Amino acid sequence: MPPLPLEPITAAEQRARQHGVAQIARLLGFVGRAEYRHIRSQAGGAQFGLADVAEEDVLIVYAEAFERDADPDDFSLEAIVAHERGHQLLARHPRLSRNLPVAWSEVSEEIVASLLGSLLVQNEKDQQELLLKALFEADKHGMEPDRATLFIMELRPFWRECYDGTDEAEHDSRGSSHGVQDAGCQAPCLV
Ligand SMILES: [Zn+2]
Repeated sequence: MPPLPLEPITAAEQRARQHGVAQIARLLGFVGRAEYRHIRSQAGGAQFGLADVAEEDVLIVYAEAFERDADPDDFSLEAIVAHERGHQLLARHPRLSRNLPVAWSEVSEEIVASLLGSLLVQNEKDQQELLLKALFEADKHGMEPDRATLFIMELRPFWRECYDGTDEAEHDSRGSSHGVQDAGCQAPCLV
């Protein structure tokens, strides 16, 4: 069934959503600009855009994120933003991606973003859902559930070791040869 047309919101609600998005993004450590757009994106509710420097990175949260947040069986706003922050961490912490075990190279960025997100959120339901999302993605890529679980266990200590919050103020040392510098994350997330 196609979704109902998007109801307009008041200016006050727009401001409240913008404020809520900015607050959650800040709590999850997002660096850069976080904004709310009252449109449907077909991108799962949010998108991360990688800029030249972290301070100019963009997190855009769309109306679907609030619709999903209102559904107790779907992702919360925190979980959606945490997944996008996972994309930013991957892009901004060269050590995090550089030091991943060789086998991790097979794992898509979507999976790792959800795993990193699950380590960021406080709420147990959000943690579970992001982990399940990662397992679901892994399964879709033909990874055995046991192997996926092992990857998840391996990530936690890696995360602690690599993430000390210092990388993202610097330029990404991988340089433009990496080819993703200005591309941003255009892939639909969490769909
Ligand atoms: Zn994603």
